[in-house]
Amino acid sequence: MTNPLIWWVRRDLRLRDNPLLVQAVVSGRAVVPVFILDAETEALGAAAKWRLGLSVAAFARDLEAIGSRLVLRRGPALEVLRGLVAEVGAGAVHWARLYDPASVARDTAVKAALRSEGLEAVSHAGHLLFEPWTVATGQGGFYKVYTPFWRSVKDRDVAGPSAAPRALLGPQAWPASDDLADWRMGAAMNRGAGVVAVHACVGEAAAQARLAAFLDGPVGGYKERRDFPAEAATSRLSENLTYGEIGPRDVWHGGMRALQDGRAGAEHFLKELVWREFAYHLLHHTPHITTQNWRPEWDNFAWRGDGADAERWRRGMTGEPFVDAAMREMYVTGTMHNRARMIVASYLTKHLLTDWRVGLRWFEECLIDWDPAANAMGWQWAAGSGPDAALYFRVFNPETQVEKFDPKAVYRHRFIAELANVPGRDARAFFDAVPRAWGLDAGAPYPRRMVDLAVGRKRALEAYAQRNSGI
Ligand code: FAD
Repeated sequence: MTNPLIWWVRRDLRLRDNPLLVQAVVSGRAVVPVFILDAETEALGAAAKWRLGLSVAAFARDLEAIGSRLVLRRGPALEVLRGLVAEVGAGAVHWARLYDPASVARDTAVKAALRSEGLEAVSHAGHLLFEPWTVATGQGGFYKVYTPFWRSVKDRDVAGPSAAPRALLGPQAWPASDDLADWRMGAAMNRGAGVVAVHACVGEAAAQARLAAFLDGPVGGYKERRDFPAEAATSRLSENLTYGEIGPRDVWHGGMRALQDGRAGAEHFLKELVWREFAYHLLHHTPHITTQNWRPEWDNFAWRGDGADAERWRRGMTGEPFVDAAMREMYVTGTMHNRARMIVASYLTKHLLTDWRVGLRWFEECLIDWDPAANAMGWQWAAGSGPDAALYFRVFNPETQVEKFDPKAVYRHRFIAELANVPGRDARAFFDAVPRAWGLDAGAPYPRRMVDLAVGRKRALEAYAQRNSGI
């Protein structure tokens, strides 16, 4: 037997559809899976870090079921990996690629260092359907607009997902592991953890069941119903895709089967999945999308910074029911419906004229499906500063949106206790989840509108006109 292979587990917390694992098994080597709590992982937002902890625990159990283990270590990745290589006499370190700037910088340095020490250091695909550099325009550049991106990938052959291995060969002696509880991954969630836990769908088996249930039912009506936030009309797989509890190829092939079976909404679903690919394509080619206006001509725009208005937005206390229901949905469930994300992002950046980065950061803090690429693309799209962005003068009107997409006020009543005659579990849970320091009281009257919609819209358009005249 050759020396063991270390599998540095990051966002590929699954056994099925895992290209790295297929190669590791074929190599015949003993495999030592390790999860590292390093500075990059420590820096995650409260909800994502807590949710990642649940995923790590579930994956450790899945590995044990096939005779393996998940070793937990804390510290700078390179240091931890070097230590582990020495302890188990490993000859190789493998991992599945990530694409955000911080991970890319870390992984590049780790790869170079390990290779210079004579080790095999290999990164694999797995998080995406198409590696971002494999999709190019006719001129060899990258796509800045979604529709041609979709056209260029939609007929590609996507390899079928690999089966989960039934067993995984371990080392002769397992190295010591930290105790996950000592990492306190949920510490920053405070009271929220218990509330959001009810809504989380954790681990590979749960993710597979979620996909199956979606393909069994909602996919048929996906195109027509996906914009109605009170309905369970979408897959909700973003939570699982972000931790790699399910692979994108599994989801793609599920959608393809539904398409072949003549399910009406299947193509639209596949298109949405490809929005995730497009987000990563943009992140790879223009990493500044996460921190700076994608279009530099927005750098002189008169964004307002963080402040009291943004704080009311964060707390779901703007007095604009669609916006508040959505912000509370995020606090209670850890996710937010896509239509609602667009509404709250438009409201913050246009009606409140606030810098999109203020919203981006709050989503990063609160979402259990936080994804560096989709979040950045979504915010820049809503603000108008991104590629393929919503035209700035197209300001979403939350009032007309709510009439269209929540006509019977089911969504608003589900999350806003002050508006419901008998508030339900989720509406009440918001007040249990928020920090006590916010001083919110479920019995207080619903707040008055903080910004008149017409006034807010006018102010946004004036700022936009000023920006244009400045170019
Ligand atoms: P479905 O409708 O079932 O779609 C299937 C899958 O396609 C999703 O799970 C997701 O992986 C992908 N997808 C769908 N819509 C988009 C989209 N617009 N952009 C990228 N991928 C998409 N998505 C995240 O996963 N994480 C985020 O942090 C995130 N932040 C966002 C911020 C803003 C301001 C906006 C407007 C959108 C954001 N999105 C984000 C995209 C989208 O809202 C979610 O992916 C979607 O709501 C997830 O629900 P679902 O799994 O039921 O999606």
